[in-house]
Amino acid sequence: MSSFRGRIVSATCFVVLLTVCSWAFSGPTISIAVDATEAPRKILHAKLRIPATPGTLTLYYPKWIPGEHAPDGPVVDLAGLKFFASGKPLEWRRDLLDGWTILVEVPAGENEVLADLDYLEPATLVGGFSAGSSATEKLLILSWNQVLLYPKGWKSDDLTYSASLRIPDGWKYATSLPVSNSNGSDLHFAPVSLTMLVDSPVLAAQYLKAVPLNPGQTPPAELDAAADSAAALEPPQEVWDRYRNLVTQAGALFGTQHYRDYHFLYTLSDHVAHFGLEHHESDDSRVEERGLVDETERKLNAGLLPHEYVHSWNGKYRRPADLATPDYQQPMQTDLLWVYEGLTEYLGNILTARSALWTPEQYRDYLASAAAELDHLPGRTWRNLQDTADAAPQLYFARQPWYSWRRGTDFYEEDNFTWLWADVIIRQQTKGAKSLDDFCKLFHGAPGGTPALKTYTFDDLVKALNQVAPYDWARFWTERLTNHGPGAPLHGVEESGWKLVYQDTPTDYFRSSEHDAGQIDERYTFGLQLRDDGGIIDTVEGMMAAKAGIGPGMRVVAVNGRRFSAEVLHDAIKAAKGGHDSIELLVENTDYFRTFKLDYHDGEQYPHLVRDESKPDLLSEILKAK
Ligand SMILES: [Zn+2]
Repeated sequence: MSSFRGRIVSATCFVVLLTVCSWAFSGPTISIAVDATEAPRKILHAKLRIPATPGTLTLYYPKWIPGEHAPDGPVVDLAGLKFFASGKPLEWRRDLLDGWTILVEVPAGENEVLADLDYLEPATLVGGFSAGSSATEKLLILSWNQVLLYPKGWKSDDLTYSASLRIPDGWKYATSLPVSNSNGSDLHFAPVSLTMLVDSPVLAAQYLKAVPLNPGQTPPAELDAAADSAAALEPPQEVWDRYRNLVTQAGALFGTQHYRDYHFLYTLSDHVAHFGLEHHESDDSRVEERGLVDETERKLNAGLLPHEYVHSWNGKYRRPADLATPDYQQPMQTDLLWVYEGLTEYLGNILTARSALWTPEQYRDYLASAAAELDHLPGRTWRNLQDTADAAPQLYFARQPWYSWRRGTDFYEEDNFTWLWADVIIRQQTKGAKSLDDFCKLFHGAPGGTPALKTYTFDDLVKALNQVAPYDWARFWTERLTNHGPGAPLHGVEESGWKLVYQDTPTDYFRSSEHDAGQIDERYTFGLQLRDDGGIIDTVEGMMAAKAGIGPGMRVVAVNGRRFSAEVLHDAIKAAKGGHDSIELLVENTDYFRTFKLDYHDGEQYPHLVRDESKPDLLSEILKAK
């Protein structure tokens, strides 16, 4: 949608646009008052005042949620919906062809409609994205799209929302949304476009700590951490220092910022969904309660805030034209997610290392795990990288079993390697004079300032890469997107001086990931991914366990006649190494038990990256702080 190119989405700049763009026009102003005082009960109340004319008023509940790349607006949790005009209730009905569309009959003589609605937060722990669990006894992450309706006929940039929010007494709050005035727990925000409102969640909590990350500099960046306990907000000082480094390193990478004021909204709770969601001027990132204070959790979550922060440049400012829809009703086309998410994954991870949130060794251990996983993904033989992006709106909600054969949204992981490959090509083609950093400055950099949207197509991307280093980039990306393997695309790793090998002891990162997930990963031995109770999450098609007849959903009860445990399984694999006796697995499947014999004798196989001294160490160069 090229008409969106250069569109500025901030309300303050929209006024400027009105004077220079004859096609721009302003829509109605809607007021919304949200009462979140019952958030611990998992219910939010909202009242809206919507200008209307007599006849049928078509209202939408946001369906396609930006950054979630899917029609997952939680309309089933919209409750208590009632409409009034001049104090009288109005008739309404849902559109039969679209459950997110509500039709309200407005009587003659009326010029506005009042809407009452509730949003039902998940009452038990539910994962997923922003519609997952978001409220606890002590905190709430409010996503405005969950508590509002908007009228048909306007772009979200053209609708103005005047919002207020009441939070529980004694709670603090953090948001990138400008506050016009506040009185205790009553917050009134400056009027903004619907685009900006939906792009600006509010984190409210009893325990909330705001840490400036670049005091005295502009634009300011702040880490707002909220937790279910005060103790969870007291990590060692070096942790805050590393997030300060992150702001410095991102500034050095991109050369400028596209925000007025950035808020990392970081929620630490065992009772909310865990994920990260990007916005122009903030991110909604959620991990375990001990995510900041526990060293292992810090290591496993280290890449989350850098990834979401990179999105302010790559995803929010520069966005695939097909993903920049005029409202939340029009479907998004996800074919360029390998840039939107894939490049963000690559840049987020290298910024994690450049900020010292990861040591170079931790980065390499992460990379080794990701490489091994892609190297054991037979789904690549039928679904190419392009289809993982095209099918993303469905794949984000795929069940975990059969992952290796189905594939998932692994454009994140695969493109981490592909963009490393591209970075290496730029460095080789320019004999070290240029790198992907130069591409970032060109593509994502100046002018900066207020949040803006500049869309791009595949051809724009190829053109920008050619400006940095002339190369047949169109062919390179087409090959990467349509390739079917076999094996992971590790050319970038190899050309940057490192090799993927398998050894009989795990990296610290690998073992921590297993423990944290409650899993045992034997995908690289005989192709089994298990829970630590023996339940089989996945089998790798074509590997020994699958060929023997074992499948996802079964459960390993015993190994060589002894009750299953991680240690019993590991011991059996070690004992069978180089020998002749098979490993016997007693497996339960839908109330039946069966014994499978695996003739596996190659011992444990854990992924590592080792140095290839025949090549220059470009990877270490890439990870150095700038
Ligand atoms: Zn992302």
